Order: sequence, then structure tokens, then C-alpha cells
Amino acid sequence: MRRITEIIDRMGVAPNSPAADLITASYIFSAKCHAGQLRKSGEPYLMHPLEVAFILSELGMDAATVSTGLLHDTVEDTHATIDEIEEQFGHAVAIMVDGVTKISQIQFTTAAEKAAENFRKMVVAMAQDIRVLIVKLADRLHNMRTLEHMKANKQRRIARETMDIYAPLADRLGMNAVKIELQDLSFQYLQPNSYDQMRQDVEEHLPARDKYVAETVQEIHAAFEGAELEILDIYGRAKHLYSIFMKLEKKGVSIAEIYDAVAFRVIVPTVSDCYSVLGYVHSKWRPIPGRFKDFVALPKQNGYQSLHTTVVGPNRQLIEIQIRTTEMDEMAERGFAAHFAYKEGQPSASDEDSMAFGWLRQLMEWQNTVRDPNEFMESVRHELFHEEVFVFTPKGAVVQLPRGATCVDFAFSVHTEVGLTCSGAKVNGRMVPLRSKLKSGDRIEVLTDKRRTPNREWLDFVVTSRARTRIRAAVRKREDEQAREVGSNLLDRALRANGSTLSKLENSDDKAMVTLKLKQNSFDELLAQIGLNKLTTDAVVQMLYPAEPTLPPQAIGEPAPGLAERLFGRKKKPLAQHGSSVVVGGLDDVFITFANCCSPLPGERIVGHVSTGRGVRVHRLNCSELHNADPARQVEVRWRIDTDLLHQVRLRVVTDDKPGILAQVSSAFENLNINISEASCRVRDDGSAVNTFRFGVRDLEALHAVSSRLRTMSGVLRVDRA
Ligand code: MN
Repeated sequence: MRRITEIIDRMGVAPNSPAADLITASYIFSAKCHAGQLRKSGEPYLMHPLEVAFILSELGMDAATVSTGLLHDTVEDTHATIDEIEEQFGHAVAIMVDGVTKISQIQFTTAAEKAAENFRKMVVAMAQDIRVLIVKLADRLHNMRTLEHMKANKQRRIARETMDIYAPLADRLGMNAVKIELQDLSFQYLQPNSYDQMRQDVEEHLPARDKYVAETVQEIHAAFEGAELEILDIYGRAKHLYSIFMKLEKKGVSIAEIYDAVAFRVIVPTVSDCYSVLGYVHSKWRPIPGRFKDFVALPKQNGYQSLHTTVVGPNRQLIEIQIRTTEMDEMAERGFAAHFAYKEGQPSASDEDSMAFGWLRQLMEWQNTVRDPNEFMESVRHELFHEEVFVFTPKGAVVQLPRGATCVDFAFSVHTEVGLTCSGAKVNGRMVPLRSKLKSGDRIEVLTDKRRTPNREWLDFVVTSRARTRIRAAVRKREDEQAREVGSNLLDRALRANGSTLSKLENSDDKAMVTLKLKQNSFDELLAQIGLNKLTTDAVVQMLYPAEPTLPPQAIGEPAPGLAERLFGRKKKPLAQHGSSVVVGGLDDVFITFANCCSPLPGERIVGHVSTGRGVRVHRLNCSELHNADPARQVEVRWRIDTDLLHQVRLRVVTDDKPGILAQVSSAFENLNINISEASCRVRDDGSAVNTFRFGVRDLEALHAVSSRLRTMSGVLRVDRA
């Protein structure tokens, strides 16, 4: 079994440094937790975290990451808790162990390519810290190396997952060495026959190839002789089995025919040396058109940099030459990990050379202004997969949504019908408000109710255009229906005054006549127009009974009566107390009263209840009175923001029963310029006094101002809405 001192040595930290102490402590903790557990191979379980930590030390990762490697399975597989880890090893390590545990718990099930892509993105999005991914990759690498001990079906599943999820992730992070090993190991289990064949073929060609490589390297060296170029190293590297296999599959050729099974690398000190060497190579040997690629000026997304060219080399052999600096070579092997080789918590990413790496360059610039490494990690994560969250359906399918998406967006993404009838949502098994924003990894269950329709308020928080358009259409449809209903009511009333009814009109030829003459597209539209107060019932009545004007002459020319008045048959009170602080279902001018049971204030969520003959009564959305009310009579209402009307509200203030307290409380109101319209006081047996005040405030904020002022006063025990 690997020894802990090997890991500390490999990290290059002093034996008594804080870093070494952290590693040793993590080792002891892990050993205790895993004591007695065995791997499938029969070896002590502890070998696994040790190997993972060793891989991380080889990648040059910082102490916190190596420590996470040692601890990564303790929470998942033993009695240890995240809290214990946080207590002993600090917040950073605890967060990372938690991250690795979470990723390990999600299981990739569908083989569809799209699903794999989403799943991959979700893994990334879930990792709070990029180092979590690197630990997960090291974990997977060791598990793949020891996969032989697993049952055949498990081998295939894990290999599939590795090939589809983790090898591409390693590639995305530029960790070439890890990617290659993961691919070759997966290949071995997924296509054992092809793998064996490949290995045989490659081995057969090995002596010839080694000879060819040695000779070619010599030729290249010779070619550079006399040139004023500084060359650090030239070597040939065989491509890995899986990539040769893919190439053979794609081109349908034999292994002897692929000239680029070996790539030759020329390592130079500086970036400008790369181009000098390239120029020289092209002057010596003829380049193949279309085979030159400049990944130095235009790095790959994963940060890979190098110049690639294929030339007609010595003996008219085609050779692929890659020219790069030592740092680029390092980056090509270790990728992202190379950047995050921390030493004592300091990102080496701050050194100048790494500034040159493609997509990281911008992030580095941010880092100059943002010194916090956590923030830096966060921005890297955003850069990888920025504006998206990945969530689960109850069946485990992954759904991709834009950042900020809510339960309602999710519902519409599942199906329009689900969105239109959604009445509630559970996230990770718990009921949440529909407006709740989703996080990657959340599992969402939408509750539906056929009687529900979308609420106009939803438009304030949905972020997907799909949800937005559907909600808008549904709200408009309902408002049209409401307007038609109001219109029908009004017209029926007006017709009855003339000895007819709406249904009589609807069943006569006059229906088409008035529709046409009043220039409406349909009778329904005519009713809606009346409901919206854009057309008067008089216009219809006069059309039907032209000989008998229904209005006395002096009334003509007066403004059309308000909708509320006509709808509910009473005069609108001049400046009714709450007259116009609320808008009903997009309609202005509906008669409003405020329910006494809950006295809603602007700023609170409200709902209207249509009460026959009494207009629309406005309640707080959570008012208990509404539980017994008929949901069909509820209408959407919202506050109008531009009014200065005062709303009456009651506040219950419990105080000590001592002299002068009431005067103090009243003066607090006075200071806030609030007139108390009613006050009562009741002394209780326990020596406290319950005071109730009724007064007018503009909105919820103003009420909060009063109550928080009261709460700070000595002698005041409680302040509640009465
Ligand atoms: Mn593990």
C-alpha cells in the first residue's frame, strides 16, 4: 500500500509544514473511518483514498485538494459527517468533500448523447469548486485502474460512464494524461475484442516503430544543426490506443498506414522560438496544406497550446511535428490541474507564463482585480458552463434551464399543459413557492390542478420565453373572458330595462345586425368591448330601439357612467377610501372594498373575491377566510403603485403596564406623522397591557417602519398585526 510520506514527498512540502500536517491528519482520520473496510479486491479500503491522494499529488495539486482526496469517501461510506470534517480540516476541505460526495451520488442512466452532455454539464455545475472535479477525476481514474475486480455488468456501466462523462470532462479541463488513461481503460472494458486486437497490432509494430521514432528524432536533430535555434528537447510520442482505434475506424486504414500514430515534439524555450522553429521546419521540408494549425495564437478551449504541422520528411515519410514551449507541454499533459497547482494556498496561476493560456487569460485578468481564490474558482466555473442550471425530473431525466429559472419555467419546459395548470412545486421533496429559483442538481416535482390558470404575477419572475408567451396568452384569454362576462351582465341589465334579455337577443337576427353595425368582428367581441368600457350598452340599446331613446335628453353628453357603477348598480363613492389603489384583472374602475378580516396593505400579496352586489373584496393572499371561499369567484388583483391613499390597519402592542407607557407609544406615532383613529387598552393579569391602535398607512413599508420603531422602545413586549 502507498505510504503517506510518499504523498507528502511528491507534493514537495516540508515534513513539518502546515501542509504536511494537514495531509497527515487527513490520513489518520481517513484510516480511522475506513478501518476494517475492504475493497472488492480484498485489499484494505484505505488504499483507495491513498491512491487518489497520490494521483492528486502527482498532478501537483494543493494541500487542501490532496487532503480532500484522502477524505473523499469518508462521508459517503462511513459514519463521518461533513460537520466533523469542517471542524477538523476547515471550511474549504469540507466544501470539497461534500462536492465529491454529491457528484458520486448522482448516477448516469440514459445513454443518449444529449443526456450525456447535460449530465456532464450538471456535474460541472454542481461542483462548487473546480478542484472538486479534479478530485472526482482522480477518484474515477483509480477506480478504473482497479475495475478488474468488479462484476462484468458493473464494469461495463462504469466504463460507459467514464467514456461518456469523465473522459470528456478531463478533456475539457485539458488534462490530457488523465483523459488518455481513462479512455484506454474504458475502451478495454467496452470493446474488449477490439482492444486486444489493437494492443496486439501496436505491439507487433513496436520494434519497427521504436526504430522509426529514434531515426526520425535523429533526422530532425540533424536538420537543425547549424541553425541558430535553441532546442530543449525532441521526442516522439506514440498516440494512445483509443485514439489510434478511432482514427482507424474513421479512415478505414490499417495501423501501418497511419503516419500520425506518432507525433514528434520539439520543445523550445519561448513562444517566439516556436515560430522560428516552424519557419525553419517548413523551409527544410514541404508542409502538407491544410495540416498546419496554430494553437499558440488560438488556443483550444481547454487551454491547449502548440503549433502543429505535417511535413514530407526524411525518406518522403509524412511526419507530424508539434512545436511548443516547456510550459505548453506541461499544460498539454496536466491541463487545468497545472494551473491550480497551489503551493500553500497560493495559485501558481498568478505567474506570468500561464497568463498566455487561451480561455483562462480573461479569467486571469479578472483575478488581478479579484484576489479571492474562491471567487476566481467561481468565475472559472461560470466560464465553463455559465448561464445554465441542470435539474432533474422525478424520473431522473436531466433538464437544462437558463440561470435564474423558477419552478414555473421548469413546469412549462416539461409540458405546456403542466405549466398552465401548475399549482405548486416540490424541490428535493419539500414544498416551495412557485417563484423559487432552481439550483443545479435539484429534483423537481410539479403539482397540477386542472382548475388552476396562470397568474399574471408569474410574469414577474419567469425567465424562459416559452413560459412567458404561454402565460401571457393564458392571462389575456382569461381577461377577455372576464370582460365578456362583465359585458354580458351589463347588456342583459340594459336589455331587461327595455323588456328584453340577453338570451333573447342572442337567439334573434338582431345579434348579427348590432355586431355588424357596431363594427365588431363577433358578438363575443362586442360583449368584451362593453365589459372593457369601450362601448356602451346604450349604443346597443339605441340600435335595437331607435324610436325610444332610453336616456333623458339632458343626460346626453354626460360622460358614460363608470364600469363599477354600471356593473354593481350603485354610484361610485367620491374618492372612496380605497377607491383606486387596486386594479382588478387588468380592468380599471371596478368597485373595490378591502376585507376587514385581513386589512391588506400595498406591498402585500393580494387576491380579489367577487361578491355579488358588493364589488370585488380584496383579501391578503394568505387570509384564512379565503379557505372557505369559492375559488371560481377569485380574480387577480394588483396594487396600483402611484397612489397616496391611506389604508386602515390595526396594530396590537403589548407593553408593560406602567405609567406613561401609553403616552410614549402615542408619541412614537406622532413622530412618524401618523394619526391614530382608534385606540383601546386592556390590562392583563400578568402585568402587561394589550393596546390596539387603528390608523392609516400608505403601504406595508410604512407599517414596518411603525412596528420596528415600537419594538425598539423599552417597555414594549410585542408588536403584531391585529
Ligand atoms: Mn472513491
